[in-house]
Amino acid sequence: MRLVIATSNEGKVAEFRDALAELEVEVISAKEVGVTQFPEETGQSYEENARLKAEYIALRTHSLALGDDSGLEVDALDGRPGLYSARFGGDLSPDERVNYLLEQIRGVPTGERGARFVCNLVVASPGGDINSFEGICEGEILEAPRGESGFGYDPVFYSHDLSKSFAEATREAKRRVSHRGRAVAKVLEWARGEEVFG
Ligand code: IMP
Repeated sequence: MRLVIATSNEGKVAEFRDALAELEVEVISAKEVGVTQFPEETGQSYEENARLKAEYIALRTHSLALGDDSGLEVDALDGRPGLYSARFGGDLSPDERVNYLLEQIRGVPTGERGARFVCNLVVASPGGDINSFEGICEGEILEAPRGESGFGYDPVFYSHDLSKSFAEATREAKRRVSHRGRAVAKVLEWARGEEVFG
């Protein structure tokens, strides 16, 4: 049994391979099965986008497929950037994008800088079964970046669970509490019960 990860990001494939190691399933990337094109993320929710990717890959590869989508929701911006987190502010480097976010909420006082990361994972079967799993991680946006690890908004996301920024946390610590880690834990729980990969 194999599970194809519907992303072109090999870093994510490695993360999912680690996280799903206990399952009797071969975790492989879309690229490894010759798929390099993905549908546009035109959905109106994380779940719709995750599903678009998972269904596309399941149909193309005749395998179980896992699609994901995630974003950062900032209270002071009425939930933005949300679905548009990867493109927030336009064509910017990761550092520039973090600074753009800080600019948008400059002057917002501590206590009103709440934010959360949200992740949705969809497992699609070639026969059309769809199961979706959500993970949420609460925190706040710092006044300035802290820490060197991680990616994206990690340096300015202060995790309430860890009492530090995601960029100050080890990979393992982040995985335990992160939106993606929590959604993966739900996939594991479901897969054990269903013996879907078995
Ligand atoms: P996607 O799920 O790959 O489309 O990610 C959407 C965007 O959300 C990414 O480009 C990042 O900007 C942001 N994002 C999602 N998860 C994380 C995370 O764990 N840390 C930092 N930024 C994240």
